[in-house]
Amino acid sequence: MNNLASERPAWVEIDLDQLRTNFDIIRRDMPAGLGFVSVVKDEAYGHGMVQVARTALQFGATAIALATVDEALQLRQNQVYAPILVFGERTEEELEICVTQNFTCFINDRRKAEKLSRLAKSAGKRMPIHVEVDTGLSRYGVKWSEAPAVIVSIAGKKHLHIEGVMSHFAMSDELDKTFALQQLERFRQVMADLQELGIEFKYRHMCNTGGFLDLPQAHFDLVRIGILPLGVYPSQVCRRIRGLLPIMTVKTKIAAITEIEAGDYIGYGMRYQAAERRRIAVLPVGYGDGFPRVRNQGEVLICDKRAPVVGGNAMDATMVDVTDIPQAQVWNEVVLMGKQGDEEIDVHEIARLQGTVSYHALTGWRSRLPRIYLGEAQS
Ligand SMILES: *Cc1c(COP(=O)(O)O)cnc(C)c1O
Repeated sequence: MNNLASERPAWVEIDLDQLRTNFDIIRRDMPAGLGFVSVVKDEAYGHGMVQVARTALQFGATAIALATVDEALQLRQNQVYAPILVFGERTEEELEICVTQNFTCFINDRRKAEKLSRLAKSAGKRMPIHVEVDTGLSRYGVKWSEAPAVIVSIAGKKHLHIEGVMSHFAMSDELDKTFALQQLERFRQVMADLQELGIEFKYRHMCNTGGFLDLPQAHFDLVRIGILPLGVYPSQVCRRIRGLLPIMTVKTKIAAITEIEAGDYIGYGMRYQAAERRRIAVLPVGYGDGFPRVRNQGEVLICDKRAPVVGGNAMDATMVDVTDIPQAQVWNEVVLMGKQGDEEIDVHEIARLQGTVSYHALTGWRSRLPRIYLGEAQS
């Protein structure tokens, strides 16, 4: 992603001042002593990994977390030298890179511990690792019932040192916390067993944004937050923090205006037929940019008003009805997601159109839309 203004009349604006405000508000909301890991995988959910990571570090992030080694390398290439956690499992080739680059891996079984320990030894290093305990997500990690024994054996490796033990919730942001509390109980049991076994480490962590907001009893030493500093909540029902606002606005401009008569159709598939004369604005964006694939559904903001999508949109074009917005002109700015005047189309509205969640709707804006950073640049 670059900071150069693009010629293309379609782009994503990221408000770095609001990002700083959000981190500041979140920091103040945290209980004293709680640390946080800033999760910036997939370009910080489409907002820009480097910009979000740098801001997070200014607000005291303990580490930056990513999902792939490539992302971690890219962050280092952008002079981010903070500790980096790489979620998930690593291939043997990736383990070698993690040793040379000092990326912190998750090691959840004896074999991988042995492998990393050997690599660390030949590099003359002692590598920090975190262990993931699977408490019910059934994804990565050592099963909670086997965790104490496995962690004891990993703790015996001379060239590794266990810095953290963590787990991840299956559902932390909905009203029903039954399963989350069961996961928490399993994690607590593992912690108690490890303490009894005399295994010491610095960080216990379990919470994503949903857990941070709604499960203070699960905070432990660190929380891992991704979506919240972006000003977006993981669900409609989790706790709100006053003052947090979305930092992403998706914009385009009207590329053409066409008048159609009664009986005329709009778009592929002839999904809309005009009952009378209509004025139609053509937007130079479509599902190839991450706008939902819709038929006569969804709205955009033009001249501070909502204009409905008419017909089926295409990969590169979307038509909206501006009959009731006579002042709309070619090259007027259009907001696809975000605020214009008093109107707002939020990420949840976009997500509903796609039949998906806010995370998917955020990451859905494709990289062919350039990111434009507003606010003071980060050093
Ligand atoms: C993505 C991710 C997070 C961050 O989740 P948010 O809900 O965006 O805060 C935390 N932990 C793990 C393991 C993740 O994969």
